[in-house]
Amino acid sequence: MAENVAILGLGTMGAGMAANLLKAGFSLAVYNRSAEKAHPLVIAGARFASTPAVAAKGASIIISMLADDTASREVWVGSDGALDGARKGAILIESSTVSPAWIAELAALAAQHGVELLDAPVTGSRVQAEAGQLSFLVGGMDTALEAARPVLKAMSKEIFHLGPVGSGSKMKLINNFLSGVQVASLAEGLAWIERSGLDPEKALSILKAGAPGSPLLGAISARMVSHNYTVNFLLKLMAKDLLYAQTEAARSDVDLKTAEVARILFENAMAEGFGEEDMASVIEPLRNKAAGTRMLEGGSG
Ligand code: NAP
Repeated sequence: MAENVAILGLGTMGAGMAANLLKAGFSLAVYNRSAEKAHPLVIAGARFASTPAVAAKGASIIISMLADDTASREVWVGSDGALDGARKGAILIESSTVSPAWIAELAALAAQHGVELLDAPVTGSRVQAEAGQLSFLVGGMDTALEAARPVLKAMSKEIFHLGPVGSGSKMKLINNFLSGVQVASLAEGLAWIERSGLDPEKALSILKAGAPGSPLLGAISARMVSHNYTVNFLLKLMAKDLLYAQTEAARSDVDLKTAEVARILFENAMAEGFGEEDMASVIEPLRNKAAGTRMLEGGSG
């Protein structure tokens, strides 16, 4: 008999992860707040669950891949929440990028219920989720991780065990702090390049091959240059991650000033309607501002 797994949240990431669990032969129950997103997975062989509790029932591993703390709280412990449906001995895996403070609270609730929690957020994006090539950053008990390993393996290229529960979420926020600051500085740098008279293609090829070059700079600059904001990572989620990173770092008495500035850029872009676009669109308000200034300059000349 195939192991029973449940996945809660079928957004950009959860949909690809669920498809790989089906491909690997797990018996899969799927839940999503907007039920229509479950349709392609049900056609591919998943069982549709109308609530998180129904999805969790009978599953030995229950994974969630949701937007933020609010969504995670709602789905695990809200009405008809997954924790109510989970059987004793089940392993819960929180793969969303959430705050370590919420992970600590959820771990305590899980323990009261007789189930074990792993926090296992991921690096990689839509393409890696679809290809089963994510990297899991795991916090929690060895025994729980060993029991969950075959399930995590079906969705990933590597699994890092970082320490007790909460360690995965801390690592993920540090990762996204550095990523968010780089994307924000790239947006400013490229807006500057475009207004400076330099050839953007030549300038970017120098940056990519030089010290600032990184996989992120390569991927995001291509999207910025082509104005292609097909969602890989929603802009509003990066604003969320930077806020969680600031809050968590402050608990270690570290003030993330660069995260604060980067977050302001993402929040400005949200205010201009880019929250539901890819995070690369953080450059657009800077371009628009530049265009507005150019018009003013032209008008006065
Ligand atoms: P997404 O496409 O926006 O999906 C978010 C999911 O959360 C959807 O299933 C959504 O349901 C659900 N949701 C949101 N608010 C909810 C609420 N109040 N109650 C119940 N469900 C709720 O996001 P994603 O890109 O898949 O990201 C999922 C998580 O992984 C996030 O924490 C993100 O930061 C993290 N992450 C993303 C990437 C990436 O590149 N995309 C990479 C690494 C980590 P509906 O469909 O009903 O809205």
